[in-house]
Order: sequence, then structure tokens, then C-alpha cells
Amino acid sequence: MRARGYAPFSASSENDALLDAIIDRAEPGKVAVFDLDGCLFDTRPRQVRIFRELATQRGWGELWLVREEHFLDWSLRTTMLNAGIPEAWVDDHEPEVRAYWQRCFFSSAYVVYDHAMPGAPALVRAVWERGAHVVYLTGRDIGMAAGTETSLRAFGFPYNAVRTSLLVKPRFDMDDTLFKESALEQIADLGPTSVYLDNEPANVNLFKERHPDSQVVFVETDHSPRPIEPISAIPWLRCFWRTA
Ligand SMILES: [Mg+2]
Repeated sequence: MRARGYAPFSASSENDALLDAIIDRAEPGKVAVFDLDGCLFDTRPRQVRIFRELATQRGWGELWLVREEHFLDWSLRTTMLNAGIPEAWVDDHEPEVRAYWQRCFFSSAYVVYDHAMPGAPALVRAVWERGAHVVYLTGRDIGMAAGTETSLRAFGFPYNAVRTSLLVKPRFDMDDTLFKESALEQIADLGPTSVYLDNEPANVNLFKERHPDSQVVFVETDHSPRPIEPISAIPWLRCFWRTA
């Protein structure tokens, strides 16, 4: 089953209970690992910004139709069609849109347009305040580290403090899941992992296999089109926002 997409304010009592369970497992000596894109951060504002820049530069008014709710998967073609842009226009312009998106999306200059998921900074702060070591483990590469640090600070995540680490890919072309697998050893040096949150099914499955006793959580936003589903033992988190 695929994730249903971003729903940052779909709070429920079941969802609250899962947020509580994540906090309850945090304690001194333990490690809590959080993914960034599509997990602690909503990447859609970054993408809307990119579309609007290109719209303005090229005088392509069609691209102004694209709003956050039109991003339902990783296909820019689908996004443009969701926005009501005519198919013929999309067919003609998609390669150039994609090339511009690609140039911008994976950069420090644009990553700062992301918003923290509502409620996510409060959750991570609560985990950190209970004494756990917070690790931000991301598929962003070293070229995006400076913008990522700016974002973490701007939205009030624990960062530049004791017991916080940011792990980014050393090279852009490295596969995200292979990078995260290779980072597990480094994380193990910090202590046992009590919590792991990610929006990519392959990543949560890998982590659950390696750390069956930890609280692995699948964050339901968007994810890659790979036909992989989270294993059934893994709970799904709809959002970080609470009912009260
Ligand atoms: Mg992610």
C-alpha cells in the first residue's frame, strides 16, 4: 500500500499515542534517528518556489498553477497535470522543467525554502530533552549541508548542541538507502537506537531488520516509486501535529 500523501494536520488520538511512544523511548544513552525530506521537513514549498522561478523567468504562466497539494508523488509530469496544466503543454515543456528542478532542488540555496512539518520540532526537542542523542540521517548530500543547518536552526530543532549529529551523503550520486545502511555502524557507536523515523519504505524495513527492538516508524507523506511496502510490524505516522 502506498502512503496517502502529506496531511500535516490530520491529528488523531491514535497518532498522538504513537508520538507519545516515540518520546517515551528516549532516554540518556539511547539514539533517536530522524530522516529529513518528507519526514521532519515538507519539501513541497521548495518545489513550488522552483516552479514559480521558472514560470517568471520564462513567462510560462501555466507553472503558477502548481501548488503544494498537487505534489502527490515524485513525477513532475503528474504534478503539472494535477494542477490542471494542459497535457500537450506538459509534454512539450516537461524536459526543461525537470532540468531546472534538478539543478535547484538538490542545493543548499533551495533547501532553506522547506517548512518543518508542523509539530516535528516539538517532538524532536522532547526526545532530546529526555537525554537521547538526536541524529538527523538524510539522503541530502554534503553540498546541501549548509542550507540544512540553517533550516534546522530556523525551525527550532535541537542542533549545534550536545547530543546532536547531522549525517549527509558524502557524494550526490550515492544511493540513499546504501548510504543509510553504511551510516548504521557510525550510529551504533553513539549507543543503541531507540527510535527511527523515515518516509521511505526501503529505509524503515532495513532499519527494522537491523534493529528489531527499536521503535521504527514509517512517516506517511510521499516516497519513491519503488514497489516496496513497509513490513507489517512498522506503525505509520500520519503527522506530527497533535489533537491538543
Ligand atoms: Mg525522506
